[in-house]
Amino acid sequence: MAVITSDFGKRPKPCPTCSENHKGIDLRAPVGSPIYANQDLKVSRIVDTGKEGYGKALYVKDPNDPSKEYIFGHLDDNNPGGYKVGQTVPEGTLLGYSGKTGANESPHVHYEVRKNGVPIDPKKDTGIATFEKGTGNLLTTTAKVDKNRPTKPVQPPAAPGKTLPELQAAREREKNKTGPGSNTRPRPERKDVGILINPRHKLNDGD
Ligand SMILES: [Zn+2]
Repeated sequence: MAVITSDFGKRPKPCPTCSENHKGIDLRAPVGSPIYANQDLKVSRIVDTGKEGYGKALYVKDPNDPSKEYIFGHLDDNNPGGYKVGQTVPEGTLLGYSGKTGANESPHVHYEVRKNGVPIDPKKDTGIATFEKGTGNLLTTTAKVDKNRPTKPVQPPAAPGKTLPELQAAREREKNKTGPGSNTRPRPERKDVGILINPRHKLNDGD
């Protein structure tokens, strides 16, 4: 069951800081809930509008369909991996953490899909965040999700033919790396929460 606290389109009772016409959907999420990419996504914008608008927001595009842009607003951290605009966030990698930034009265993620710059209903689009069943709070799942999904950017695949000690040493080196792709900010570990982004997956709101 997807917990959508505010749907796309006209709002019957907009909050004082909310627009009458909602350009995306709001998804309830405790501050600090991780958001992952379940396919490669290209960073198109990293913005911070302060106490207005979407606050800390991340904009990404599907490399296979650049006409569409996906926006995650009100994040606590909109770039934990240190990516730059134009870089690709690999599948399974952390995109950000949900929060309460911008014009936001309760912790949630504003999720928006734009087709050629025009907001469309994320639920009617094939590109949609989907949610985990059973946790009752945050909801994301696709066939690809497993319980051991990474909490920080995935390591590049090891070269073929390496021995296990060599791989372990390489992993240690990766752990101490900084810069794009590394997650330098320690975070509390959270379980069973997370928003997984699959631009080709349909939201099943009836679940
Ligand atoms: Zn919203």
